[in-house]
Amino acid sequence: MVEAILEKLGLVGNLTGVYSNGWFHHPGGTLVESINPSNGKTLAKVITASESDYQTMVTNAQAAFGKWSRVPAPVRAQIIRQFGEALRFHKKDLGMLITLETGKILAEGEGEVQEMIDMCDFAVGLSRQLSGVTLSSERPNHRMFEQWHPLGVVGIISAFNFPAAVWAWNSLLAAITGNTMIWKPSARTPLTSIAVHKILAPILVEHHSQGVFHLCVTEGHLGANWLARDIRIPMVSATGSSQMGKEVGSLVAQRLGKTLLELGGNNAAIVTPSANCSLALRAIVFAAVGTAGQRCTTLRRLFVHRSMEKEFVEKLVGAFRSIRIGNPWEAGILMGPLISEQAVTNMLQVIDLAKSQGAKLLHGGRRLDRAGFFVEPAILQADPSMPVVARETFAPILYVMPYENLTDAIRYQNAVSQGLSSAIFTEQLTEMEEFLSVQGSDCGIANVNMGTSGAEIGGSFGGEKESGGGREAGADSWKNYMRRQTCTINYGKDLPLSQGVRFDL
Ligand code: NAD
Repeated sequence: MVEAILEKLGLVGNLTGVYSNGWFHHPGGTLVESINPSNGKTLAKVITASESDYQTMVTNAQAAFGKWSRVPAPVRAQIIRQFGEALRFHKKDLGMLITLETGKILAEGEGEVQEMIDMCDFAVGLSRQLSGVTLSSERPNHRMFEQWHPLGVVGIISAFNFPAAVWAWNSLLAAITGNTMIWKPSARTPLTSIAVHKILAPILVEHHSQGVFHLCVTEGHLGANWLARDIRIPMVSATGSSQMGKEVGSLVAQRLGKTLLELGGNNAAIVTPSANCSLALRAIVFAAVGTAGQRCTTLRRLFVHRSMEKEFVEKLVGAFRSIRIGNPWEAGILMGPLISEQAVTNMLQVIDLAKSQGAKLLHGGRRLDRAGFFVEPAILQADPSMPVVARETFAPILYVMPYENLTDAIRYQNAVSQGLSSAIFTEQLTEMEEFLSVQGSDCGIANVNMGTSGAEIGGSFGGEKESGGGREAGADSWKNYMRRQTCTINYGKDLPLSQGVRFDL
């Protein structure tokens, strides 16, 4: 099965992770291995970029920017439209590759490709709607307006858990707005990034636009550091842990470049006594266990009203027990493996730490006795004051905590350094409004009667505090990839100065 998928996506022979005006057949970097987390075996090896390959890439991307930025946006969109069609054709195979490389279940692997397709459709529509405002001038015979120009060569750094969709959020908007770009994917998921470029490359050739999208697979974080330090990269969009954001963000800030940071989450949901419990239960299980707890929006903290805690938690434990764990490409499986041995070790250590701080393990938290990196999702009874609850552990660990009143629950929810996603389950208007008010959730995403994960691309996506402050995908996120220019035109014969200043010669 693995060979067939790799072959269908053109991932055969000596695989190179460097695409810049075409594939580099002999890049100068080391070999990285892509590991199938479902059995720990190597899927394929990839030759990575050296620093000198990167330098060539930046030169190519800069040269292409001169031409691409002059192409009208609706014409640029033709490439994106064709790419969307190609993704529709390859949806099953690319979805399966994502499943093989990340361990997410096939429905989610295909869902990730669907998200890319949705982004293509969105970007194509957007290409005819990039707009600036016209403003009233205080001076007679003057016109004032804003216009937007592309930035140049945009750097994109992505995480392993959405190995293609996060690139699509960034790259399709960056392309439609006239930028060229260099992508440094996670070294754990090089095959998905190569497959994406194999699908894209013929379309770029057809449109003589090979210099728009560049791929720079490197060992570890190398490529991310090159992008972060490089004065020729006006904006770096980085998705990953908050620690990564602090390091990359400060490197870019030292040269006064722009960043777009999408970082870790420590997401919470509140279940009130008025909630529709069966709906809440289903939403909570998907949010906590989906993608094996490896989404930035995964539900990690659950606040249940004390009056219903016992009964609700019993049902939750029952639902967790029924989760079918196994090979993520098999029908009926709801949870695949974690990404790596290190991720398993980390999860088990954090559960021990939580216990040492007084948490009680109610379910799961064991490694499964089989090849690969499989664990049982864990539920721990905890308290908001435990330090372990305040950190993001990238694994399926759900801390359940009681609360007395909604004000307390919202305070507990907001009392962490991350601010990505949040949810409340309630049938009461007043509770919903309190949660959504200025005193309510401090997160970038606030949901009512749905879980914390699974955002649609039409809204802007991102979080506050250590979640980075960036917004990607829908709404007006395109503005991140452009520079704003205020233009004032004097079409009169006089030269009135603003603020009534007189400067008569
Ligand atoms: P990670 O931070 O280890 O790596 C992400 C990317 O950053 C990789 O390409 C990596 O090579 C690079 N990187 C990591 N540390 C770096 C450093 N010190 N200097 C330069 N580059 C560095 O994250 P991961 O394990 O791949 O993914 C999981 C994390 O990503 C979680 O914290 C999750 O919440 C977060 N994430 C956030 C979003 C979002 O949109 N907010 C989306 C997906 C994942």
